[in-house]
Amino acid sequence: MVHDKQFEIFISKEKIQKRVSELGAQISKDYAGLNPLFLGILNGSFIFASDLFRALSIDAEISFIKLASYKGTSSTGNVITAIGMEENLHGRHVLIVEDIIDTGKTLTSFMPVLQQAGPASVKIASFLSKPDARRYDIQPDYNCFEIPDKFVVGYGLDYDGLGRQLPDLHILC
Ligand code: 5GP
Ligand code: MG
Repeated sequence: MVHDKQFEIFISKEKIQKRVSELGAQISKDYAGLNPLFLGILNGSFIFASDLFRALSIDAEISFIKLASYKGTSSTGNVITAIGMEENLHGRHVLIVEDIIDTGKTLTSFMPVLQQAGPASVKIASFLSKPDARRYDIQPDYNCFEIPDKFVVGYGLDYDGLGRQLPDLHILC
């Protein structure tokens, strides 16, 4: 039980650790010599980001931000602000680290904000992706697991604030 709902194990911690290590090795190969800047999106990515970062065999930096959206004018639609983006991203190879890409709305709004800072490149590493839930044209460059359009908790992801510390990924029964 998490909060008031029943969940069952969907991806074991062993499978997760193996896949995260593979991703870390791949990223280390692709970013060798580039000193990439990992940009973790809080709160959900904190566990994935720390495991992925420790799976690297190259020099890299990491920083975390929180995204907050608010209603802009009717012409701008929803506006997103990045809280805590103090790093100078100009000329940097930025790798966004996200827990899950669901509809794709969050990152679709954030990309233009990030591009304004003049990075050399921007790619996305997500722990999970729900391809069937996608409503915006955004895909992760690196992804651990594709999952069905169902609610999951654990490994950093929460249900009403709870369940983030579960080492295995759980799915709603
Ligand atoms: P998007 O903007 O891509 O629709 O949503 C991304 C965000 O929605 C994720 O960062 C996460 O916070 C939340 N989210 C989407 N699906 C799930 C899910 O199955 N479980 C949890 N805990 N959060 C989810
Ligand atoms: Mg999130």
